Amino acid sequence: MIKITGSTHSGRVRDHNEDAFLIDESRGLAVVADGMGGHASGEVASKIIVDTFSHVDRVSNDAGSSANLANTLLVAHTAIVAHAHAHSECKGMGATVVAVQADAQAYRIAWVGDSRIYHWHRKTGLQQVSRDHSYLEYLLASGEIEPEQARNHPQRNVVTQALGLNKPQPDSLSRAWQPGDRLLLCSDGLSDELDDAQIEALLVGNAEIEPAVAALIEAALNSGGRDNVSVVLLENRALENQALENQFAPTDEDSAQSSWQNRSWWSEWWPLFAGTGAALLFGAVAYFIF
Ligand code: CA
Repeated sequence: MIKITGSTHSGRVRDHNEDAFLIDESRGLAVVADGMGGHASGEVASKIIVDTFSHVDRVSNDAGSSANLANTLLVAHTAIVAHAHAHSECKGMGATVVAVQADAQAYRIAWVGDSRIYHWHRKTGLQQVSRDHSYLEYLLASGEIEPEQARNHPQRNVVTQALGLNKPQPDSLSRAWQPGDRLLLCSDGLSDELDDAQIEALLVGNAEIEPAVAALIEAALNSGGRDNVSVVLLENRALENQALENQFAPTDEDSAQSSWQNRSWWSEWWPLFAGTGAALLFGAVAYFIF
């Protein structure tokens, strides 16, 4: 089973929230979209993306490959462009997005822009899986700046791709993951405020994913909250199911039930038998001694 939870906050500076997210736990599907554009049209773009995913999810049973996730992003792109053509106030709107679809063994992702996905494993720690489509990533890849210079770079929010603008080329990939692993999807409102070590500390410090999401958003707000912030967390709970199955494993369901009943009966009455036995023994010993 995949457990998923998420939350979004407009932040401490912006008066509206242009982020949107989608969670479908039954299919292991999650999406975070970060809209941009004047006159609140960023909200429209990010909503079109999550609506597209929920629609595809309903009509198709085959949204689960990374290629299909990328195709769904292109469907959303076309829908954003069409909406902008029909509504002049939405001209120039766009959105970055990251989408994931996971089962117990593997997860598939697709993304456009600088919305990110991280993978946390208890031994290898936190690793960013997506590579931003951003000017900063280009500078890093070409060696023009060092990672330490990236955090406060004046152009750190310049994306080179977004849905709704030009011709986006979604990246996609698949990875294996293990029981207990977590996936974190976020908008740049989180990754701009917190570095990887801060994010990892809050993941490790919270045994459950709901309080982890709340703690991450609170930390981003306390760090400035300069942008809308969205966080979605997935946890691989396959081991939990397996442990549960092992616990109630006997192949014959009836024998399992009857052995459980016998044990329950014995566990309730053994103090009485033990007490009676001890009293008889004490009586016999006392009789022979005195
Ligand atoms: Ca943002």
